[in-house]
Amino acid sequence: MDKELLALLVCPMCKGKLKYRREEGELHCLYDGLAYPVRDGIPVMLPEEARQLSVDEKLHDSPGRTGER
Ligand SMILES: [Zn+2]
Repeated sequence: MDKELLALLVCPMCKGKLKYRREEGELHCLYDGLAYPVRDGIPVMLPEEARQLSVDEKLHDSPGRTGER
């Protein structure tokens, strides 16, 4: 997926940054614990389409530092 496009994307719920998970083909919001699907390279930014992340997935995604708003 396009990096520039990715930089423009924010979570519709919290307006926070998203983390692209290439293996899953999903965009993860760690704040809400939601994974938005990417279908045919197009992010589906709908909360009703998102799935809940498990605790394990949230830990795996965590950059291990704070300080980002
Ligand atoms: Zn969010």
